[in-house]
This record gives sequence, structure tokens and C-alpha cells, in this order.
Amino acid sequence: MLPHSKDTTHIVSANPLVAISDTRYEDAPCFLYLPVGRADTVVVDYRRDILSKVAEWPIWSLPDDSLASLDKRPYNIEVVPDKGKGMVARREIRAGELIWSERPIYAARRTLTCAADQTDTNGVFYRAALQRLSPRSKEAFFALASAYPPAEFDIVPGILNTNCLEICMSDAESDEHHDPAEDSYAGLFPTLSRVNHSCTPSANYFFAFPTFSGQLWAAHDIAVGEEITITYTPLTAPRIERRAFLARTRFFVCACPACIVPPRQAEASDARRIGMCALLERLQHTRFPPCVSQEELEQALEWTEDEKMMVERAKVLLYGSQVLTVYGELRTAMDWAMRARDAFRMVEGEGSCNVRRLDDADRVHGSDLLKEQE
Ligand SMILES: [Zn+2]
Repeated sequence: MLPHSKDTTHIVSANPLVAISDTRYEDAPCFLYLPVGRADTVVVDYRRDILSKVAEWPIWSLPDDSLASLDKRPYNIEVVPDKGKGMVARREIRAGELIWSERPIYAARRTLTCAADQTDTNGVFYRAALQRLSPRSKEAFFALASAYPPAEFDIVPGILNTNCLEICMSDAESDEHHDPAEDSYAGLFPTLSRVNHSCTPSANYFFAFPTFSGQLWAAHDIAVGEEITITYTPLTAPRIERRAFLARTRFFVCACPACIVPPRQAEASDARRIGMCALLERLQHTRFPPCVSQEELEQALEWTEDEKMMVERAKVLLYGSQVLTVYGELRTAMDWAMRARDAFRMVEGEGSCNVRRLDDADRVHGSDLLKEQE
């Protein structure tokens, strides 16, 4: 194992600043530091994929939202009973409101292959990545907690594994070759990484690639003093699976409102979530013509509302509108598409590619419907 002090990195480009992680291997992952001259964010990827074109984006010359003054924030980061620190509303927040937006400190491809002596647990690789980050970002990084035992896991990979959120490093709309498994990235954020989990989350975390920022959208109205939560697990899984996943990956037993209900209510909730999952699977993966009836769609929509799952609600509305179009139910399909647009706007904002796609579809089908009326 390499001692932490041994530097295996080497600068391969000064502007933008790019360093190779390990000079012993030509194909070793690289570190790109942005914005140029400030290095508040490190992007970790292979040299061929390192997003140096991203370095030229005009957004980097704009101030990062996370620099906004403290009193503009609609939340406090404070101690939440039994959960460590969390995000709590300091004023009433309306559904669909952007609660917070900030750039990641660290963004890395999940499937990187490093040298044998740079393991997941010894921290050598990750410390090398942090080395050239700005002092401000380093401080924000080390302010986060690790849930891993320090004897087995270096603090740096411990912090990353405990706090990372999913990042989508392509604009899905313009990139037809986007492969979700291959292009999976993890991101660490100074504030968003502090938002705790709930199986009925009050907010939705969304990564907006065009502004390279993580965003937090209120999925429901949130009262003063209420904790703001997101999900760390697929919500359409039954309670036992969600809790097992969270215990395995995040080291806690979920005691959210959806998990601590009496057995009978828990069973009913599980049945709705399993039903929703099965229907979404069929909608996403079966070829047209679809084998889903309008009644089933309406039932699934009701389940998403009962379970207060706003992202799933948006998906059911979107896929449902496509199915209804195939059935020739054009007016209902248009209505569902418009509701899907509103639903995605609420949880992902105007920058969402789902919103833009629905706007384009509206322009095409909307004019068809007008022609039909004439
Ligand atoms: Zn839960």
C-alpha cells in the first residue's frame, strides 16, 4: 500500500487543469479541476472521456448558487434527532419550488479502474483527486461525515460512499448513445449531500447537466420546521427491501413515516408500490401496442398519489399519455401529457429534458388536434 504522502499524479494540461492519477499507467483515470483558476469542482474520469469541453461552458464564469448569502436559503442545516445533521425548512416552502442548487465538489464515473495499490478503502486515489481542489471545497468535503468504520475504511472514500448522489453526465435529450449503466456518475455536494432520506420524500434531487448543478425541488408543500428529505432507494420496492438496501448501503434502519406504520397499513402501502413498479416496468419495457388498460393506468396514478410519490406520478402520466395516444384517446392523452409536464416541472424544473420533450410533443400533437377540430 502506498503511503498517503506519495504523489503519483502528474499535470497533463494546465488550462484547464487536468492531472493524471497515476503516472505508471497511461490509461489511469484523470482529474479535471473547474472552474479554471478556482478548482472548486474535480471531475474524475478517463482521459478520453474527461469532459474538457465542459471546461469551456460559459456557466463556469457565473457565480455558483452555493455562494448565495445564508439568509436567502429557505432551510437550515441542523441536528435532526437520531439522524445527525439534516436540512430543515426555515420558512414555508411551496410544492414545485427550487429549494437549493449547487455544483458538486467531486464528480466521478462509478466504474473506474485504478491501480491495484489504489484500493477503494485505502484512500490513495481519492486523496490524489482532492489534492488540487480549492481550500474552500476541501473544507466542505471534510465537513461531511463517514458512516464507515475508520479502522477499515479511510475517511476520504468513507465520506464519498456515505454522501454521494447520482449524477447524469449527459444531456439525455441530445445524446442518443447515452447508456445509464456505463455513464453512471457519483457526485458529492457541500449542502445537498446533507439531505436525509425518507421513503415518502418531501423533495426531489435532480442533476441538471446544462448548468452542472444538483438541484433540490420541493415535491410537496413543506411547513416551517419540517425536515426536507429525498430518497436514497428505489421507492417502488416494498418496505422490507427498502430497509435492507438502506441498511446495506447507508448503515441505518429507516424509521421514516412510511416505514413505521402499523403492519396492516404497511401491507397496503407495499401492495401499492409493488403494483406501481410492475406497471411502470410494463410501460417502459413492453413494445407497442401496450398491454396496459386505461383502468390500470388510472389505478396506478391513484397509487402514486396515495403514496405521495411525485416522480413516479410524473412517469405514470408520461407513459400513460403515450399509451392513450395509441388507443386513440387523443383528448385524454393530451390532458395526461399536460399533467405530466406540470408534474416533471415540479420535481425537475424547466431544465428537465422530460419537460422539453413534452413541450415538443405538445407543439406537434397540439396542432394535430386543432386540425382535427377544423
Ligand atoms: Zn422508510
